[in-house]
Amino acid sequence: MPSTDMVHTTPYRGRFAPSPTGPLHFGSLVAALGSWLMARLADGEWWVRIEDLDPPREVAGAADAQLRTLTGFGLVPDGPVVRQSERHALYRAALDHLLASGQAFPCRCSRSDLAATNGIHRACCRSNTARAEAAIRLRVTDGSVVTFEDFLHGFVTQDVAADVGDVVLLRADGFWAYQLAVVVDDAEQGITHIVRGADLLDSTPRQILLQRALSLPTPTYAHLPLIVDAHGAKLSKSMAALPVDGDDPLPALRLAWRALGQHPGMLDSPGSVDRVLARAMIEFAPGLIPRKPIAFAALHNGSAVQDA
Ligand code: GLU
Repeated sequence: MPSTDMVHTTPYRGRFAPSPTGPLHFGSLVAALGSWLMARLADGEWWVRIEDLDPPREVAGAADAQLRTLTGFGLVPDGPVVRQSERHALYRAALDHLLASGQAFPCRCSRSDLAATNGIHRACCRSNTARAEAAIRLRVTDGSVVTFEDFLHGFVTQDVAADVGDVVLLRADGFWAYQLAVVVDDAEQGITHIVRGADLLDSTPRQILLQRALSLPTPTYAHLPLIVDAHGAKLSKSMAALPVDGDDPLPALRLAWRALGQHPGMLDSPGSVDRVLARAMIEFAPGLIPRKPIAFAALHNGSAVQDA
């Protein structure tokens, strides 16, 4: 059973933060719906932020298409939609602060330099002046063990120094790292509750460490079940049926409802998407959200929870 009193905390401001790497897919819809329902249950706000800081991975027009799809699903943000690509000054200010306080440092280690330590950086192995571009990393001191209580997963502990190492904040190619931007934005936007996919559970301890380094508050977290294929692997983009259709939202909305462990059938009566969402708001029971991955194919028929 979930143990954090996540839904009765006020004020509550949640968010959905898609990366515009393609059309909105089913896994993202589950995160969008789950974060929206949690916010509604708490009588809180639900914001949307476009995480467009990685141009090589972005698809032109995808952000607008995702926003249109969300509108088709009746998931309308309660605050301004911000785009990370317009917020460089915020990330720069945070980075400058960390550099000035000695909590961040330039690093010219290459990927192959770190191969022997599985990519985990604990100390610079060389000062490679031939490599012009430096990444900037957060200095993670030995013994940096972070524990937080996730609404669904309970207490989660990670030794960030041993398991992650010094966290990249600015990439050597000049792009901001997701870890820095997400921490800065969640704080700047006053986000109190983060509901997102379990693929990011592993990133949360390093984000909390970064919040501490920047003297920022730590939000409450809930990591929703991942949607997986029949073999238990995260759905790949190539799989059919992944993009969801904002022009015909009800079938995918009902499936997303089931993926959140909610009683099938509750949303079956016909009606507009707004009526269906209104019903979902009344019926939503966060205690039913599963912790285990959800098999996409099984959502259509019997039990959806993956035993693996
Ligand atoms: N932009 C990330 C993604 O699409 C989500 C980040 C987050 O929710 O913290 O996977």
